[in-house]
Amino acid sequence: MAERLVVEDVSKVYPGGNHALRGPTFTVDPGTFMVLLGPSGSGKTTLLRTIAGIEKLTSGRLVIGETVVADGRVHLPPERRDLAMVFQDYALWPHLSARDNVAFALRRHRIARHDARRHALGMLERVGLAHLADRFPVQLSGGEQQRVALARALIGDTGLLLCDEPLSNLDADLRERMRVEISSLVREAGATTIYITHDQLEAFALADQVGVLQDGELVQLGTPEDIYSTPATLFVARFTGLAGELEVSVVGPGRTPGHLEVQPVGVGGSRPLGARIGAGTDGRDAPAAPMLLAIRPTAVRLCDAESEAAHLVGSVQDTAFRGRHYELVVGLPGGRRLTGVVSERRVPRGTQVGIELDGAGCILFCEPERGPSAASDEQARDERR
Ligand code: ADP
Ligand code: MG
Repeated sequence: MAERLVVEDVSKVYPGGNHALRGPTFTVDPGTFMVLLGPSGSGKTTLLRTIAGIEKLTSGRLVIGETVVADGRVHLPPERRDLAMVFQDYALWPHLSARDNVAFALRRHRIARHDARRHALGMLERVGLAHLADRFPVQLSGGEQQRVALARALIGDTGLLLCDEPLSNLDADLRERMRVEISSLVREAGATTIYITHDQLEAFALADQVGVLQDGELVQLGTPEDIYSTPATLFVARFTGLAGELEVSVVGPGRTPGHLEVQPVGVGGSRPLGARIGAGTDGRDAPAAPMLLAIRPTAVRLCDAESEAAHLVGSVQDTAFRGRHYELVVGLPGGRRLTGVVSERRVPRGTQVGIELDGAGCILFCEPERGPSAASDEQARDERR
């Protein structure tokens, strides 16, 4: 039966003083698929292992269903937490067949070995592996092993399923297929799921709820749509996909509530636009300092360089064929650029193009930072310490 998970102000300090978790607090309702998204080192694995009971928390509280599984005094071991885990490296028993690996998960249900093996075969059938049930892990491909691991995790009808980047070792094509399988199998089973990844597209594709971790802190929690449209911080905006960033100055109130009229600076003769006011930026109608405009790829439309609609004019630096369309990199005067600009046709490098921006997908933040976003993320992290 799917259980509720409550994570309350959990902190984890490793021996040596590394402060890996800084008080994430959230509730996952029964049957919810929650994805924890964050860059490498943000504490995802630590949080999952703490929920599992493999790591002891330093302070805070964890509740699974009605049971307090960990707080300052209590620490239930993993086998008493009614949960199952799927890891990046599958962790199958090498000396057991696929079928026995799955059946093994039923050992604590005290059912006859014969019945356990029958159930296991049924579960392997659901992940499309019944025909390989007698093979050993070494005789299976990575994707097949991952499906065995998933079957094993789902067979026990456990209250909570924990997944630590289970797709990261698979190649792109298989990863997408396995993502779809996980999504449907887990939802069919109705399990409460905590799934961690550093991949924003994977997170958005899978999740009912996404929690964004930065330096051991939960910086935003919401549906993928919430997080995409209203990122709580510049860090979240960057980590969930931007076409680019521009410095802008505020030139007046916006025509719609929640927007400001801004003028990009340092990118040549650009036209002002009404941009959405980002979280934490409210009430600052005309800050003296320039603001930063975070531009979602969905807000960028290609047009003629001479077009009235163009907010910016730049030159094509790269054009990549993506099957359905082309994706351009457009360089702007002053060195800024926009990536992932969709075009129906191939546009040769060096072509002057216009860029029309949709203010709804352009989000204003107060912190003006320079440099490529990866470097700025580092900087943003350092500043939080
Ligand atoms: P993620 O899974 O998001 O990449 P981790 O939870 O693995 O992040 O790590 C979070 C932080 O805790 C990192 O700074 C990492 O170096 C540190 N860390 C992880 N495991 C240990 C450990 N066993 N001992 C000390 N520090 C650790
Ligand atoms: Mg990890």
